[in-house]
Amino acid sequence: MSTPAQRLAAVRQRIADAARAAGRDPAGVALLAVSKTWPADDVRALAALGQTAFGENRAQELTAKAAELADLPLEWHFVGQLQRNKAAAVARTGAVVHSLDRAPLARALSRAGEERGTPVGVFVQVDLGGAAGELAERGGVAPEDVAALADEVAELPGLRLRGLMAVAPRGEEPGPAFARLAELAARLRADHPGADGLSAGMSGDLEEAIAAGATLVRVGTALFGSRPLTSPRVTPVTGAPPGAPEEVV
Ligand SMILES: *Cc1c(COP(=O)(O)O)cnc(C)c1O
Repeated sequence: MSTPAQRLAAVRQRIADAARAAGRDPAGVALLAVSKTWPADDVRALAALGQTAFGENRAQELTAKAAELADLPLEWHFVGQLQRNKAAAVARTGAVVHSLDRAPLARALSRAGEERGTPVGVFVQVDLGGAAGELAERGGVAPEDVAALADEVAELPGLRLRGLMAVAPRGEEPGPAFARLAELAARLRADHPGADGLSAGMSGDLEEAIAAGATLVRVGTALFGSRPLTSPRVTPVTGAPPGAPEEVV
């Protein structure tokens, strides 16, 4: 059994190796620890090792964990499908939202950002395609609709557009999918120079994502271990988010 310190060191090493292989500065790739399904004590253990950014994919789990860990200076991120009526609760945790994929949700998050007094950082999630049936589960806007949604986000006073996010489609090599994402990200930056973030790469494909320009990798399994089965719809495939989305508008 490995320790949290060993797992964190191994992931950091993978990030550094991948960045150098791509001719990039490892400091340009942030590590988001995806703590979904893991108890607050496991977050505490990683936080004690210097990890500060944590991600959750269910609103209720995020708000509960953020409250339980309020004594730590953590930075929260939300990476799951988000229901509009939970936008305010998510925003109150200070979370950056990686899964923005529709205008009504953007407006709800913007209102929440105005209420809390600081804009909500958002990534527009892109659907990179893949096997039928998987798309609705993973969410994301079609590539051809990215620009329109990004333009709308940029106009909203309570949001700050950070860039694009995607999950590599199953059943396809991640490299070409992330290359498509990088192309979309370059186009976005041309229109919105501040939106230079690229949230891509998980335990199974962070090297390919960093090669394509990821500025933030979202890693769960490689840091915490394999998630327990929590739902009959869970497919225990490495690199796959667990369970069915609990919240769909
Ligand atoms: C669970 C999840 C991750 C982390 O996946 P691992 O394969 O466990 O590293 C990353 N991104 C999203 C959107 C997730 O739901």
